[in-house]
Amino acid sequence: MTTAIRIEVLPARLGDCLLVECVRDTGRPWRMLVDGGPPDTWPILEQRLKRLRPDEQYIDVAVVTHIDSDHIGGMIPFLQSEYAHHVGDYWFNGRTHLPGMTSKRSVGQGESVVAALLGESGGRVLPWNLSFGGGPIDTGDAAGFIEVPIRDGPHITVLSPTTKRLEILAAKWSEAMDQAKRGRVVETRPDIREPLDDLVAIAVQKSPKDSSAPNGSSIALLVEHRGASVVLGADAFGNVLGAGLKGVAAARDQKELPVDAFKLPHHASKSNVFEAMLKAVPAQHYLVSTNGDTFHHPDDAALARVVLTAPPGPTLWFNYHTERIARWADPALCERYLYTARFPEAPEAGAVLELPGGS
Ligand SMILES: [Zn+2]
Repeated sequence: MTTAIRIEVLPARLGDCLLVECVRDTGRPWRMLVDGGPPDTWPILEQRLKRLRPDEQYIDVAVVTHIDSDHIGGMIPFLQSEYAHHVGDYWFNGRTHLPGMTSKRSVGQGESVVAALLGESGGRVLPWNLSFGGGPIDTGDAAGFIEVPIRDGPHITVLSPTTKRLEILAAKWSEAMDQAKRGRVVETRPDIREPLDDLVAIAVQKSPKDSSAPNGSSIALLVEHRGASVVLGADAFGNVLGAGLKGVAAARDQKELPVDAFKLPHHASKSNVFEAMLKAVPAQHYLVSTNGDTFHHPDDAALARVVLTAPPGPTLWFNYHTERIARWADPALCERYLYTARFPEAPEAGAVLELPGGS
């Protein structure tokens, strides 16, 4: 079996910056960039893009999943770079895409992704939500989804956000945008690393649900290519993502939606990773994007839920090897709960997962 989907979770500190490639028989792979991490991820992303063959420096889709500094920070220099012109389509819900937020200028009349992210007028006009007729990326009601077939590429299904989540973001747009550009100022809590002896007790710890309007508006995707599949959870809410996954499963006459890999939402926060969502999408591989900065992700409760809910023998892929995360690679723990932990081969490489598939 050859590789069908290659996923790179670049080191983006507390954020997300993913490069997804879907291999084709001839020519370059179909390529998607998902977020740019915080601002200091840009040199890493730029170096990675420089390593693409000069005649293949093309990104088919660049997704800005939601407006938070740990996702858009690195996208701003990307959008101001030459690479920005070598993108087939940008997927991003800007102000003008939100319910009730009408603007004098339509996207087609000059509002650009750059301007939207910088909160300025003018700027370069780039292809924006073309796969959605230029309109919002909105799955509608809970359990809704949008299918985006791509010619000579993967089949993509949008699992989040719902209209309700976009309405909530609309009400908080200016505040969220200010925060995203400034970067969140958060008092750092101490990083308490409890012993990982009883994962059942850790998994059932009560966790407040994520209530961030930008996180709730996250664009989450199912990417399927040549029999391989990955769910990219962005910072989506567990209940929104779970409902979307169940909706897709029901449409396929299935109770659940088994996939090869699942990039856990919100850096494996206990406020986004719940058993019901995990049951909707049993996976073999779980990807975690964080170095624990500021929020001390991943949360033990989230990973305990993954290990206990996943089908037998899952692998956890981390894009950093921190002290917090190293506890999850304890051989006795892995043996007791029958899972494997994987770390980057080189720190700058992040996590690299290759999913095999048929032709
Ligand atoms: Zn995030």
